[in-house]
Amino acid sequence: MWAPYFGNTGRRTRLFKTTAVSEVFEKIPKERHLSLCPCKSKKAYRDCCLPFHQNKALPKTAEALMRSRYSAFFFRLADYLVETTHPDSRGDSLQRELEDTIHHTDWKFLTIVSTSKGQEEDKRGKVEFIADYYWDGEVQQLHEHSRFRRHQGNWKYYDDKG
Ligand SMILES: [Zn+2]
Repeated sequence: MWAPYFGNTGRRTRLFKTTAVSEVFEKIPKERHLSLCPCKSKKAYRDCCLPFHQNKALPKTAEALMRSRYSAFFFRLADYLVETTHPDSRGDSLQRELEDTIHHTDWKFLTIVSTSKGQEEDKRGKVEFIADYYWDGEVQQLHEHSRFRRHQGNWKYYDDKG
């Protein structure tokens, strides 16, 4: 009975709102911590994006933030995606847009094409990537030039106009 998850029902909304970053441990079985990270870093999830998703560490580079956001899309951690979007770009509807789309998408592969700045000493950075995914079962590809900026010292996703 998965259909109600995709309809505009109170049930789906309620389920979505339980996806808090603090509940990552409950949402993701511990076995996954040892498996390879969805961001294709070839590291274990535990040693890659998990500490960011748990708010125990902060990405030091724009690319690391980009990868952690891809993994957050993969695991449908909407709160993390809102939190890591720059406040100037967040918009009132971001949470709702994520609610409307995040459960339709299955992320399959991430390729980092290039990066520009976005290092520890930088305030801005760009990451070009290609992400393959299924939207309601249809293969799609997202080729984006993302821009990242620091906010209160931490890397945030700014926009896709890089
Ligand atoms: Zn990762």
